[in-house]
Amino acid sequence: PLPVLAVVGRPNVGKSTLVNRIIGRREAVVEDKPGVTRDRVNYEANWNGRRFTIVDTGGWEQDVLGIDASVAAQAEFAIQAADAVVFVVDSTVGATDTDEAVVRLLRKSGKPVVLAANKVDGQSGEADAAALWNLGLGEPHAVSSLHGRGTGDLLDAIMAAL
Ligand code: GDP
Ligand code: MG
Repeated sequence: PLPVLAVVGRPNVGKSTLVNRIIGRREAVVEDKPGVTRDRVNYEANWNGRRFTIVDTGGWEQDVLGIDASVAAQAEFAIQAADAVVFVVDSTVGATDTDEAVVRLLRKSGKPVVLAANKVDGQSGEADAAALWNLGLGEPHAVSSLHGRGTGDLLDAIMAAL
């Protein structure tokens, strides 16, 4: 079986957009409204000839648990099934309490984590990305999943972790 990379994070941070960028297709469901990722969440991807399975998460955000509990629940589920995790944070928003809760789950799991500081669409966003060093997960990799900025470097970091 291929190594499994899980993509976790709050609703609307750009997880599905990042997955699309990595798989090179417009297949994962992207919406302005949170909570629309559903159905197939596993995709086959490859980078520099190394194949892996990438798991998009999301889609349970509007269930009865409420946002915090459901993000945590699906992150926990995805993390335990993964060999490595990409934790996506919206750098234009910064770290929220929900993000901090996911960080605790990630630490507890002991799995390798790559931090993606998303929505850095230009140079002016780099400072927002650097602020995410505070999460204690190592280097925040500044990316724009929408435009592709920084995603090559992110993939190199992912491959080193996977
Ligand atoms: P998810 O809920 O985490 O899967 O987030 P989505 O991938 O569905 O994206 C949520 C919204 O953020 C959509 O409107 C995306 O177009 C937007 N978005 C995602 N990545 C970026 C980015 O790098 N820059 C900007 N400006 N918007 C982004
Ligand atoms: Mg999504």
